[in-house]
Amino acid sequence: MSNSPKRINLNESEWRKKLPKDVFAVCRMKGTERAFSGKYHDHHEKGIYTCAACGQNLFSSIDKYDSGCGWPSFTKPSQKDQVTYAEDESLGYIRIEVLCSKCGSHLGHVFDDGPEPLGKRYCINSLALNFSPE
Ligand SMILES: [Zn+2]
Repeated sequence: MSNSPKRINLNESEWRKKLPKDVFAVCRMKGTERAFSGKYHDHHEKGIYTCAACGQNLFSSIDKYDSGCGWPSFTKPSQKDQVTYAEDESLGYIRIEVLCSKCGSHLGHVFDDGPEPLGKRYCINSLALNFSPE
């Protein structure tokens, strides 16, 4: 958090006004889009994926890979301090939630079944992302 000089702090009703309903549901209500329903799970252009809520750079197409899970999957954020983590026990077991470090929006989860050498799968909702082509 110390590396995010301009954190965005809107309250939830301000977010609700600012964001499309489906983006609000994922980013602020920690929803999950249906597998294979998002616009980026099968998206292969070169560029940068940014936070749908605040625009911060989050992931690079260089780190994107086809996991087959139905959500955009990355081996890492493009820079470490762009995301923060939290434990999520909403399904009755612990998953690691991934959040935007600038606005606190829910992005998805990270799992330990990604490809070597990092072994991580950042499983991110398309709705939490926008894409800027290179
Ligand atoms: Zn954000």
